[in-house]
Amino acid sequence: MLRPSYLDYNATAPVKPEVVAAMAAALERTGNPSSVHGFGREARRQLERARAAVAALVGAAPGQVVFTSGGTEANNQVLCGARGPVVTSAVEHDSVLAAVPGAAQAAVDAEGRIDLAHLEGQLARTSPTLVSVMLANNETGVIQPVGDVVGLARRHGARVHCDAVQAGGKLAIDLAALGVDFLALSAHKLGGPQGVGALVLGAGVEPAALLRGGGQERRWRPGTENLPGIVGFGRACELAMADADWRRRTGTLRDELEARITAIAPGAQVLGGGAERLPNTSCLTMPGVGNQTQLIEFDLAGIAVSTGSACSSGKVGPSHVLAAMAVDPAAAATAIRVSFGWASTADDVERFALVWSRLYARTRRPERRRMPEPA
Ligand code: PLP
Repeated sequence: MLRPSYLDYNATAPVKPEVVAAMAAALERTGNPSSVHGFGREARRQLERARAAVAALVGAAPGQVVFTSGGTEANNQVLCGARGPVVTSAVEHDSVLAAVPGAAQAAVDAEGRIDLAHLEGQLARTSPTLVSVMLANNETGVIQPVGDVVGLARRHGARVHCDAVQAGGKLAIDLAALGVDFLALSAHKLGGPQGVGALVLGAGVEPAALLRGGGQERRWRPGTENLPGIVGFGRACELAMADADWRRRTGTLRDELEARITAIAPGAQVLGGGAERLPNTSCLTMPGVGNQTQLIEFDLAGIAVSTGSACSSGKVGPSHVLAAMAVDPAAAATAIRVSFGWASTADDVERFALVWSRLYARTRRPERRRMPEPA
């Protein structure tokens, strides 16, 4: 039996063993970070160590980090707290789009990059208080020109929120250089646990609270902290920062995979391939073969990938991201997302290319003629 190949890191990354160990130790300790006794003080120390690690990942100070239950909550906290019109883009994650259903959306070009002229028109038309753009797209990996967006937003007096959930730990991020007011992160995309994330605040920025309760997280996010999760998040950030080779390793695997596939089938497209992208992500079409068929074939072979539309897993249907890029709907229906990460190897590329080429060849065979039924 071959080892399964997990190539769906953008959906969630396997938790790193060091993170599991840190979380297990945290679970074995008793203590509420708000308690004044020794147990509580130790819990507080663990919480603050994790806060410092998350802050360091994005070049911020610990006091700028507010822990949340994940990227969805961090995005919702900012968007639901906006006190005026919001402008976002057509390729944002559902946790942004669904939080501001009436928001104006900037268009993107054929590679999935925000159309800055169109964005400027939307800013002039709506005078927003908040602009929300992602740093890197979950389906294509395309990196957005966030610095340019910040420049435009400032000219119109708007604050900027950036969903950096897919970029955290994959790109070097410096909050001050990026210039945004709010940055959302999620632990499970970088080898940490699911159900924990952070909202990182720009200097002098205060978010509106989504919840009412106690004084935790300076009342911006009340509720007893998910300490084991937060400890795991912090450890995952420390490990991501220590792994300087991650980008080169995953980039080599991704580029090799794309070279193999386009050599087998010159008609196969790499969607967003002309733009700057995360090094680990590939959104690939297989001419004439629906993505659900591909998904099943890969799954039967022990390879986990997802359809272009399925970051919110289980969602089947046309991808709003690919539609915004004006990808031909017939081609979009054949797109799958392959995403690599810390435990991926060259063997994963081999196996993927083998299964891909087998399926592609099979669908190209001419239909066998049926013998006529005897009369
Ligand atoms: N934003 C982006 C770009 C994502 O890819 C995801 C998750 O897939 C989220 C936000 C939501 O993060 P979480 O799963 O932590 O709620």
